[in-house]
This record gives sequence, C-alpha cells and structure tokens, in this order.
Amino acid sequence: MRPIYLVVGLIMGTFLASGAESVPAVPTAGAPIFFNTAFESASIGLIEKLGETDFRVHIRGQQDSRGRNRQATWFYFRMDEVAGRDITLRLASFKGEYNDRPAGSPGGEWYRPVFSHDGETWQHFSDAVWDAAKDEMTLTVRPRGNQIWIAHIPPYPHARLQSLLADVGRSPHARVEVIGRSVLGRELSLITVTNFQRDDAGKRIVWLQARQHAWECGTSFLVEGALRFVVSDVPAARKLRDETIFKFVPMINPDSVVRGEVRFNANGFDPNRQWDEVDLRDRRWLERLPEIWYVKKALLEQQTRRPIDLALNLHNTETGEYVDTMADRDETLVRMHRFFDLLMAKTTFDPAVPKLTLFRSGPGNTTNSIWREAGVPMMLMEQRIGPGKKLGRRPTTEDRLEFGARLIALLGEAAQ
Ligand SMILES: [Zn+2]
Repeated sequence: MRPIYLVVGLIMGTFLASGAESVPAVPTAGAPIFFNTAFESASIGLIEKLGETDFRVHIRGQQDSRGRNRQATWFYFRMDEVAGRDITLRLASFKGEYNDRPAGSPGGEWYRPVFSHDGETWQHFSDAVWDAAKDEMTLTVRPRGNQIWIAHIPPYPHARLQSLLADVGRSPHARVEVIGRSVLGRELSLITVTNFQRDDAGKRIVWLQARQHAWECGTSFLVEGALRFVVSDVPAARKLRDETIFKFVPMINPDSVVRGEVRFNANGFDPNRQWDEVDLRDRRWLERLPEIWYVKKALLEQQTRRPIDLALNLHNTETGEYVDTMADRDETLVRMHRFFDLLMAKTTFDPAVPKLTLFRSGPGNTTNSIWREAGVPMMLMEQRIGPGKKLGRRPTTEDRLEFGARLIALLGEAAQ
C-alpha cells in the first residue's frame, strides 16, 4: 500500500500547497520525506536537501509594502514518512529589519521551536543548537509517528478562533458582532461580554485586542483563556460581568494568520503603525489598512458613547516582556499602575524592569497613540516566547490560557 500513499502525498503536495511550498524528496532506499504546507497558517521557504533525512529549511519571512522590514519569525510545516528516522533540520535565514534598521536575529541560545505528533499538542525541541555566526538553528529529532508538525511557537489558526466565537456566541453573556473586513474580506469580530440583565450605568469598560501581528499566536491563547473565563459561571466571572463591560477584538490581522505570514497585512502595512495617520474620513486608508480603520472606528465610537477605562493591546516578543503606554494623565495612570502591580503580584508576568513603561522613545505611531488622539487609555503588553524566571520554563499553550483568565480578571479589578 505504500506506493499508493506516496502518490496521494504527492498529489496533495502538488495541488493543495501553493508555489514550491511542498517539495517531495527524490526517492532512494528509504521512503522519501515530504514537506507539506497544505493547511492554514503554514509557512516554509526554500528547502535544501543535504541528505536523506538532513535538510536546511530557510524561513520565508515577510516584507512590508516597500520591500523593507523583513521579519522571519514564523514557520509551520509538516514532514511525512518520518517514523523512527533520525531527522536533522537546519533552520536558516532569520535575519531581517525592524523600523527600517538591520535587526538582530530573532533566534538565540534561549530559542526552542516546537513540534507535534498530532498537530494539536505541542512540545519544545530539546535537541537544538544555535549557531550565531551562521544565523542557523540545528534541530534533531526521531519522530515516533509517521508525521511530525514543526512550528516557531504553537500555532493558533483562524479556524480555532471561529470555533471559539461559535462557542462564546452561544453564551447569554456575550454578543459577537462584525465591525469590518480585512483586505481579503475576512470578518473582524468584536465580542461584548457583560451582564446584559443589569443596567450599564456604573459599569466600567475594558478593551482587549490581539493578533495585529500574525506570528504572535501566544496572544490568541490569552484571549481564548480570557473569553472562556469571563463568560463562565464561576462566581468571580459573574461579579466581573456585573461590574464591567468587556470588549474583545481577538484577531486584527486574520488574512496574515491564514496565509502563514509574519507581521504585515495583505497590502504589506503594519497593523501596529500609522495609527496617527489613519483618518476615518479618508477612503485611501480604508483600502490600505482596513484592519486599523475598522478597529479604530470601533474604538472611537466606544470612546464617544462611553469612555473606555482600560485598554490593552497584546503582543509577543522573543525575550522582552513589558507594558507601556503614552497615557500621561494622573487618574488614568493610577488605574494603569494598579493593573501593573496586580500583574506583578498575581501572575507569571516577568518584566526586566518591574515598572510600567511610560512612553519615551520608539515609534510614536503605534496603537498607543490613540491616547493622544482620543484619550483612549491604551497599553501595549509584550510577552516573551522564551523562558521566564518566574514561570521557570518556556510558556506552553496551557500557561497562556491560564494567564488569559487571570489577565481579564485583573483588568476588570484595576478598572474599578
Ligand atoms: Zn507584535
């Protein structure tokens, strides 16, 4: 039966994967190993075959609309015909640019990609060697099954969000609405969670958003943990719904999530830049950057109707962890400091500098600039994918889900 299976694999690779993304190896003594990217969020660059089970895999990366700012922090592919074989993978071509300047490699000694035998549960590679001079990471693994999925960090595809929204949408405490569409027409969702039986007067407004950058899957697990907790029947969640109106924008850049891209939208614009330029009266911005245009519109409408008390924009980095803001009014900062102190005391949040970072340098055109434009008390939260001292390991999907539940409770608490 093996030849039939191989033919099926070849057809799948040829017709379902785009371009040269699925590369069947030349058959020799053993069955050839296939690289498969015929699924959502998959990404791979050039593959060099160095031996039957030895490959150099270049990261595809993504550039902006000007051909600048290449970022190579996402790959996700499957290898077939691998059972019991000693596989060597050399991941390469990580270097790029950030804010128009050459950027250090997103890899390093600390770095461990993940693998899965079922495409669902993930673990970090233990055998990994980083070569800084070559900008290359060598992984060795002997898969127990015939397929192995490999990714930068555990993937959170758009399909998982859709099934989450279907679940949450059945809750009497949640309303899911579509506030706009991405460049390629995908829905941008806004979920409102509160006790709808109770008068809104006196309730606080908390805003949480994620996935401006497609690779930052860790933030989606946070949002899922937060949403599942806040619609649940535990007494703490009921109290939060009595006191607070929660607004979630869970995935701002769905096109790039689906297409296995890294950072920019389908037009090559960064959804966390140019927030100060995106003008709701100018249709050109709606065409270029609909993801910002619609989310900004929703934020401004909310702010006009009923001002937001705390807003948080979730991101991931390699090793940095912090919360920063451009807010500069005392009553707002008191609330933000309270949130920060609660995070420090009650979660695994583990910043290098244990203080809320007030804006000093860096790009002034991120989502945080909506504070200057409209007084929205926006904070950026970066969380590392590398190991943290407080957590004592690299974060798993379970860690992220649990953190999300705590995070939303603390936002609600700090907003009161
Ligand atoms: Zn980001």
